Amino acid sequence: MGHRLTLINTDFLIFLSVFTLALAGTQVPGSVFIGVQNYFRSSLIQMPELPELEVVRDVLQRRVVGTTIERAEIVPPGGAIVVRDLTHGNFGAALTGATISAIARRGKFLVFSFATLYLILNPKLTGRLQLAARGDKRMAKTHLVLALSSGDELRYVDQKTMGQLYLTRDLTAVPDFAGLGPEPFDISLDEFRARLQKYRGEIKGILTRGEFIAGIGNAYADEILWHARLHPYRKRTQLTPDEIARLYDAMQRALCAAVEQVRAEMGEQIHLKPRDFLAVHLKTGEPCPRCGAPISLVGANQRITNFCRTCQPGGLIKGM
Ligand SMILES: [Zn+2]
Repeated sequence: MGHRLTLINTDFLIFLSVFTLALAGTQVPGSVFIGVQNYFRSSLIQMPELPELEVVRDVLQRRVVGTTIERAEIVPPGGAIVVRDLTHGNFGAALTGATISAIARRGKFLVFSFATLYLILNPKLTGRLQLAARGDKRMAKTHLVLALSSGDELRYVDQKTMGQLYLTRDLTAVPDFAGLGPEPFDISLDEFRARLQKYRGEIKGILTRGEFIAGIGNAYADEILWHARLHPYRKRTQLTPDEIARLYDAMQRALCAAVEQVRAEMGEQIHLKPRDFLAVHLKTGEPCPRCGAPISLVGANQRITNFCRTCQPGGLIKGM
């Protein structure tokens, strides 16, 4: 853990110093900038969002629904942190012999249904599921292992034990779950407009709020806004009806295309999170796929915002 943290911090410092030089007007060769970012990208923690979780759900639908859990092993010490048994019973005993009857995605949650129970995963920044054969070596930071009647193991891996797995009979008892807004693919343009009216502030921030619309985080908000040609820091109150319609269309198009791309690249390796295909997010300094201008960066760490100043004009830049 300590080593990993050091690595991330070193990457971040290198990135920050190049970024600071660039801000100060010092000439940083583009290739150096891109090289540093590519190095940095590999270790940056990014939250899984709707496209990744939708594909994970599809794979699990095929591979685990209908199987029975033969053994549920909470692996110490991290297992005790990530598993939250809201039934206050015996987690292992409750799941042993239980058959997975369905799996659903809601926002950035995955919901496994059993006859009288739910197991709900909120992977947050660092949680991943992995499908493995029983004999396969466990990845470091594996905190929960469900041995299935199919011979597979469904494992939960979480580098920083930030995610949570709730066992419950009542979905409303799960933090942040009951208040989720509609799914992007289930909302009409009229409903989207009406919901948007309740929010003020910058449009990117609104898109990432789960109670407005579920499943969109930092990465895909950048992608959607690029598709919509809207500056991420435009105020919602400044957007015209046409721009809101463009945003709605871009949301559907960007997420739909991403699901297909992730499906093609992820395959059965559900612990992966392919994102190299993104147009702007984490592409600082690279050419905009639409106009060729270099992609801009604002912010740092998990709240990086990338956009194209040419295609997405306007907006006051935060902190600059
Ligand atoms: Zn552009």
